[in-house]
Amino acid sequence: MLPKVSKVLIALLLLSAAVPILADRTPLKPGWNLFSPQQDIEMGQQVSREADAQLQLINNAQALGYLNALGKQLASRAPNSRQYPFQFKLVNEKSINAFALPGGYVYVNRGTIEAAANEAQLAGVIAHEIGHVALRHGTNQASKAYIAQAPLAIVGGMLGNNSVGAVIAQLGLGFGTNSLLLKYSRDAERQADLMGTQILYDAGYDPKAMALFFEKLQAETGGSGRAAQFFSDHPNPENRIGNVNNEIVKLGGAKPGARMDSPDFQEVKRILANAPAPGGKPGPANNGGARGGKPQRPSGRLVDYQTGDVRLRHPDNWKPYGQGSTVTIAPDGGIVNGSLAYGMMISPFEPHDDNGDGRMTLAEATDQLINEMRQANPQMRTSRNHERIRIGGQAALATELSNVSPAGGRETDDLITVVVPDGTFYYFIGVAPQNEFSVYAEVFDDILNSVRFR
Ligand SMILES: [Zn+2]
Repeated sequence: MLPKVSKVLIALLLLSAAVPILADRTPLKPGWNLFSPQQDIEMGQQVSREADAQLQLINNAQALGYLNALGKQLASRAPNSRQYPFQFKLVNEKSINAFALPGGYVYVNRGTIEAAANEAQLAGVIAHEIGHVALRHGTNQASKAYIAQAPLAIVGGMLGNNSVGAVIAQLGLGFGTNSLLLKYSRDAERQADLMGTQILYDAGYDPKAMALFFEKLQAETGGSGRAAQFFSDHPNPENRIGNVNNEIVKLGGAKPGARMDSPDFQEVKRILANAPAPGGKPGPANNGGARGGKPQRPSGRLVDYQTGDVRLRHPDNWKPYGQGSTVTIAPDGGIVNGSLAYGMMISPFEPHDDNGDGRMTLAEATDQLINEMRQANPQMRTSRNHERIRIGGQAALATELSNVSPAGGRETDDLITVVVPDGTFYYFIGVAPQNEFSVYAEVFDDILNSVRFR
């Protein structure tokens, strides 16, 4: 029997043998997030259904088998990624691009494979996309947009009762080239490059392949435009090549005998060279909305809704998205890139009593609210001031504002402020693009006329 000390020593030796020796590397962690990893998967699944419907996919079994074997092997090297059901799809587009949805749904354009000189270069692009998934960049962006939706409400740090599907609709996270899920910050891109480099290294590829592919893309960007897409979605090529090279130095350079290519990769290139050219199926919608185009016309049929102190009726093809007593009621496609473009938001607000006399007039409270809104929206203007109206039997003020619309052009905002019987201030803001406002003004009137306070 071994003395006690030796047992501990052996345990320590076993432990250190089980943990791979990690070279010096940039530490990377997912940022702040309101969603659970399970919700990343749910969101990715739902949005990938839209992507599948909108994109022309290549279903060649050998090419797909190869892409998935390579992708899963790389994904197995990414930290905290076992929980995601990685899937890799091949898009029949000649431009050099790839994207990843939350939860591990990765799309690679055929142009990327055609442009890559070897397997390691393709692996570099895929590893970058896996980095976005592992670092949860999509739902990190969605979390920020979700909070920005209700800047004047108290933010609880949860999705409330909203399902992932409701959040997708509310934030306009559907599949599109402007989708919030695919527009990352430069910092997120830098992190994905660094994690991609680490994944390549850990999977036994020469990580220099990533920088070489970027250099090749950069050289081509000035020319045909075929390469431009990867760098327009993924900005700042010069810094990216430098960052990747620095990380490779940190890792201590490629491992001896690092992989560069495989016969399978070259075989898939041959298959793609003979694959049918991209057909006429349209690419992703450019409005970032789930359906593309404008929302359906508001239905004339109204349904009941109640939130906090307020009861009202709204068109039956609009949906309420709630967070506490703040609610947004909007049609599908009414929220574009996380901002309300068509619909109404209702929320209590709390003006601060500057005079300290405990008597705040509705006009003073309204001016404070408008000032706060203008701080968040510098392009917002008042076009008609403080008209006295009544809603739900209470005296109210109507103010007309204009602002830039997330759907393009300018929008009109119909702001109604009111004090409900228990003394709480509420605002209602109806939003629609200027050139469609007459249609929506009627709906806002219908909603306001139906309001009852408790
Ligand atoms: Zn990226």
